[in-house]
Amino acid sequence: MFETSIVGSLPKPAWLAETNKLWPKWAAEGDALIQAKADATLLWIKAQEDAGLDIVCDGEQSRQHFVHGFLEQVEGIDFDNKVKMGIRDNRYDAMVPQVVSKLRMKGRVHAFEAQLARAHTKKKLKFTLPGPMTIVDTVADRFYGDKVKLAFAFAELLNQEALALQADGVDVIQFDEPAFNVYMKDAADWGVKALERAAQGLTCKTAVHICYGYGIKANTDWKSTLGEEWRQYELVFPALAKSRIDQVSLECMHSHVPLELLKLLEGKDVLVGVIDVASDVVETPAEVADAIGQALQFVPKERLFPCTNCGMAPMPREVAERKLQALAEGTKLAKERLTSR
Ligand code: ZN
Repeated sequence: MFETSIVGSLPKPAWLAETNKLWPKWAAEGDALIQAKADATLLWIKAQEDAGLDIVCDGEQSRQHFVHGFLEQVEGIDFDNKVKMGIRDNRYDAMVPQVVSKLRMKGRVHAFEAQLARAHTKKKLKFTLPGPMTIVDTVADRFYGDKVKLAFAFAELLNQEALALQADGVDVIQFDEPAFNVYMKDAADWGVKALERAAQGLTCKTAVHICYGYGIKANTDWKSTLGEEWRQYELVFPALAKSRIDQVSLECMHSHVPLELLKLLEGKDVLVGVIDVASDVVETPAEVADAIGQALQFVPKERLFPCTNCGMAPMPREVAERKLQALAEGTKLAKERLTSR
């Protein structure tokens, strides 16, 4: 009961990359960079184990950004000529690569870090990939001319990598789809179908993460415009509940998401965000246990998985370490409260 995990990303140590940034520059190159990525991956696996988390991940230490990391291994993408584009419905600008011809994998994307992580932990291992709809929203299309076609083209490629990750021994494959919370109608109309294409044939657990974004200023500013009740999930959850995806990871702690929306996910495992990634204030175990207790009103205990709200990439390293511990300690307390009733 209450198996703990994080959404995916963790801060990169200063010897690996610039700190406190969403698109950090690497601090090394060539073989030294490969070694630094491996060292950081092992460091974070140990930190997650030491904190007492049940499901661990590579902390996305080997990719510069959660979307562009995948795209670097895709043929048909021009990385040399990035263009400025408003992403997430123009919430913020990003320098994005361009799709210039038919997409094809150049080879494996995450074999190195997935196999390394698998060799060094006996815990369940989760691995994250960007979802097709979020990728479409983070590239400039100069070739396909149709969002749905482009999403399904990416879904096929994601599926190849996901099947290979499963063969590497990964227990959970999670697709990150923050765009589902921005283009809710598209998400329900075709985003979930593209996601299912990406997960086709997988026999390991499959998950989707939908959030209100990293704790960066553009996102906190956006959240302040969303009003008292955030009901975006309401439009997407019914389509997800009907899908073949096993688990849904979402943002709850300090959000304005009405928790009764979780009822729409009946039949799914729910990874409930009980750690705020937009604040450096570390939650107390009691706060985490309270948040789990509130979610328990709407999610059966065997389907509730305490998690973070989102990735922790842009956060100070020691804050992230303490938040891992808060997640584990708060979950332990929630279990005690439940069994002592
Ligand atoms: Zn997120």
